Formats: sequence, C-alpha cells, structure tokens
Amino acid sequence: QLSNRLEAVAKLVPQGSFLADIGSDHAYLPAHLILNHQITGAIAGEVVKGPYESAEKLVNDLLLTDKIDVRLGDGLEVIKPYDNVSAITICGMGGTLIRDILERGKNKNRLTRKELLILQPNVGSHVLRHWLVENHYIIQDEKILSENDKTYEIIVAEASDRKVELTESEELFGPVLMKESSDVFKAKWQFELEQYERVINQLSQSKTNQDKKIAQINHQCDLIKEVLS
Ligand code: SAM
Repeated sequence: QLSNRLEAVAKLVPQGSFLADIGSDHAYLPAHLILNHQITGAIAGEVVKGPYESAEKLVNDLLLTDKIDVRLGDGLEVIKPYDNVSAITICGMGGTLIRDILERGKNKNRLTRKELLILQPNVGSHVLRHWLVENHYIIQDEKILSENDKTYEIIVAEASDRKVELTESEELFGPVLMKESSDVFKAKWQFELEQYERVINQLSQSKTNQDKKIAQINHQCDLIKEVLS
C-alpha cells in the first residue's frame, strides 16, 4: 500500500515507461508500478547503503529482480546510456537536493533530455522550477496534495528546444497549481502567509535594523495575497 503522495506520483508515470527512481529508499514506487503492469522495468537508485539494502530486499522478496535493477550510486550516475530510461522520478527530498542531483546528472551527461521528469520536492519547489526553466524544460503538469498534515507538490517536466520563462509568481506557486487554485493550494499559502506575517512582527521588534529583510518578506506576502485574492 503506497502513501497518497507516492500514489499521486505513480499516476503521473506514463504507461510503458522504463523508469529510473532516484533515492528510491525501499523501492516501493517502482515495485508498485511493476506489479500494476504500468512500467516495463526500472532502476532503483540509492546513495545510502541502508536504503539500498532495503530496496534489494523488497525486490528479492517480491521476485522482481528481472524487472527492477537496484543500484548503489549518487543521483543520476546509476543510469547508463544503454538503459534507455524514459521517465525519472525523484521524490521525497528537498527541492535544492533534487536540483543538485539534476545539475550533477546533466554535467555528467546522464540526462538525454528524452526522459520525462516527475519530481516531488518536500520543500523549495521554486528552486526546482527555476532550474527547469534555465535548462529549457517545460512544466507539463503539477499536483498538490496533503497527507498527515504535510503538503506535497509534484512537478512533471519535459525537455524543450526553447526557454519558456515563468513569472516570479509562477516560479513560486507553480504555473499549473496557481491556475488551478485548489483548496489544498489555498490552505498551504494561507498558512505560509500567516507564518511570514509572524516573522515580520518579530523582526520589527528587533533592536537591529531589519528593514531589508522585512521588505523582502513583505514582497513575498504581497505575492501570496495576490494569488489568494
Ligand atoms: N523516494 C522515496 C519516497 O519518496 O518515499 C524515498 C524518499 S527518502 C526521504 C530520500 C532518499 O533519497 C533516501 O533514501 C536517501 O538515501 C536518498 N538520497 C539522497 N540523496 C541521494 C542521491 N544523491 N542519490 C541517490 N539517493 C539519494
């Protein structure tokens, strides 16, 4: 039984994909997709020995060793040119970490630009959107959901031959998510707004000059108020 978060990611993986799930931990996602006949095969990549061994154990226990190749290595380095990966999932990490994995992978020629990227940052999704834009990826789809009092965003992106800029708000909120403006989206940003306002309150009581910081946060608040209006 997958979490709602990974279930939502699973739904975005195209039928018939060959998947590389990076930071796979227990390999729950590729195992679920194979058992549902949604993908033809997968690489489960892990950089840490413990999770790598958990992934190996699950794949062995489910007798899926001919379908899921568990590999120990950093980020996209586990992908080899002959793998013909058509989709990459990187889930459950911070946006900055996911961006760094993509950047290192790009520099080491591990991205063919034919792969669909399905990314689920726990925080800092704007960092990831910025990288995607700068590297000429187009955001095709986005999802937002909440589970156990946490909100998760999922970004689906494909490579393009041109750069499609995002506005500051689109980068922060997500072009698809802000258009959709779901209840989960509104609740998330209402909560963020309250947090920012609390910080401004604290900063304005500080003895040192915090004007620059306050102005920055005020700007964020204005963007949030606009998207919620
Ligand atoms: N993807 C799973 C999910 O969404 O439930 C597991 C998320 S878990 C919080 C993050 C995993 O990413 C950890 O198992 C960690 O070892 C792995 N990880 C972190 N940095 C990595 C990297 N550079 N390359 C591969 N795996 C990495």
